[in-house]
Amino acid sequence: MSSYDELLKVYKEITLLNSLNSVLYWDTNTVMPPAALSYRSTQNQYLSNQVNSIWRSDRFTSLLKESKKLSNLDNFQTRNLSIIEEEHQRRNYLPKDLMSDISKQANTTLEIWKKAKHKKDFLIVQKDLKTLFELNLNYGEVLAKFYGINDPYEGQIRVREPGMSVKFISNVFNETKKFLVPLIAKTQQRALELDYDTSFLNRIVPKHVQQNVAAAICDYYHYDIQSNAANGRLGEVEHPLTMRLGPQDVRITVNYREHKFVDSLFATHHELGHAIDGLGANPKWEGLPVNSRRFPSIGECYSRFTENKIGKNINFWETFYPKFQQLTNGIFSDVDLDTFFFGTNMVNPGPLRIGADELTYLIHIIIRFELERDLFTGKLSISEAPQAWNELYKKYLNVEVKDDTEGIMQDLHWYSLYWAYFQGYALGDIFGSQLYYTLQKHVSLDVNLSESNFLPIKHWLTEHAFSLAGLHDPLPLIETICNDKLDVGYHKNYLEKKYNKLYDL
Ligand SMILES: [Zn+2]
Repeated sequence: MSSYDELLKVYKEITLLNSLNSVLYWDTNTVMPPAALSYRSTQNQYLSNQVNSIWRSDRFTSLLKESKKLSNLDNFQTRNLSIIEEEHQRRNYLPKDLMSDISKQANTTLEIWKKAKHKKDFLIVQKDLKTLFELNLNYGEVLAKFYGINDPYEGQIRVREPGMSVKFISNVFNETKKFLVPLIAKTQQRALELDYDTSFLNRIVPKHVQQNVAAAICDYYHYDIQSNAANGRLGEVEHPLTMRLGPQDVRITVNYREHKFVDSLFATHHELGHAIDGLGANPKWEGLPVNSRRFPSIGECYSRFTENKIGKNINFWETFYPKFQQLTNGIFSDVDLDTFFFGTNMVNPGPLRIGADELTYLIHIIIRFELERDLFTGKLSISEAPQAWNELYKKYLNVEVKDDTEGIMQDLHWYSLYWAYFQGYALGDIFGSQLYYTLQKHVSLDVNLSESNFLPIKHWLTEHAFSLAGLHDPLPLIETICNDKLDVGYHKNYLEKKYNKLYDL
């Protein structure tokens, strides 16, 4: 066995330990009793320490060193080796307990965030959030030093989205704002003249009914949550997320609000994008670095793709709407398809990211990205952040934030392990439009959706996108999938075409 093969064998142990952590994470977020939190943190920390000790072991280090001397490695093996090498150097550079301290603090902060959000009181979680942020700032500073740069935010971004800088992302977002802001304004102006009654959006849909709809959407995607051979599960949590516990075990969660059925509807589509991506990984690469290496922009590209390009596609609704009407027991029997489609796609500037329309969604992300950038550069403190949040909402969307549950406490990200993550959603949307036009050259999205036939779309995505996992860094990966350079113009075309039609502009 070559040193490279031995190295991968040890690496697979790391993958295994990480998957155990995912099992705990699922449990923590779905069914764990609250009193178990402290012991759960100890369990998480133990697993993190085990992972760390493998990365830092002499054996792993010497296998890596020996593997680097091998001259006969092909491109695939070289990619695996470079992923390991980069992470190995980075981990060895980090102070010994930093990662497990972050993980432990994140567990605690997440639980306190839930209480604070419930009580609508940011002060309950402020101190813990500050501690978690300071740990992340420290992490960013060490990373910046590691990469030989000055900016701690840039340090974190380089780990999340290798190959992309804060400046690059800012430029992409500025380019996006240029066409987005006037398009939002045009829709708002036109909305005054259109006469759609969208009050059906406030109709109460009982939880069990929403669960049935979510299960039907799972069926549509051929995501099996019920049979004896199921590789999926549909759980329920405050903040929807997807967890990959193993190659044949990818679970999604949704949150059902009886007075806001659209949230669970589109969250189901979103999480299913993550799920079919996770299940579409190349089985031959299981446990290898290329399959473990994931990027927010690519992951969210797939989930935002299913949420918007499938779930908010008129061709999907033309065939799914009768079924939806049936499953919802006549609640929407008086609402025709055009009204339903307009209501669920209309541009509606509001304080909440989840459930936001496709246009203002990007502004929600840009706000978070800019706040994060200011927090890391020290322009903004955690105690000032709620106010700064509200001010940006006023400035960009002309929205008054009522309280911090609608403001800084709405997302779990900063209260958990997802710092320097938000940019992924907007980049993902932008990548997703390029993917949308690429896919259409090979498979007709509209024809297949209007025939309720998702399989050809799923197969194409699996073969040409999901199965590539982390074979390349995000930009070269999307450029490989789309066989073209990244171009924000695709997103501009997609949004203008869709919203010009929807608003008859
Ligand atoms: Zn997502």
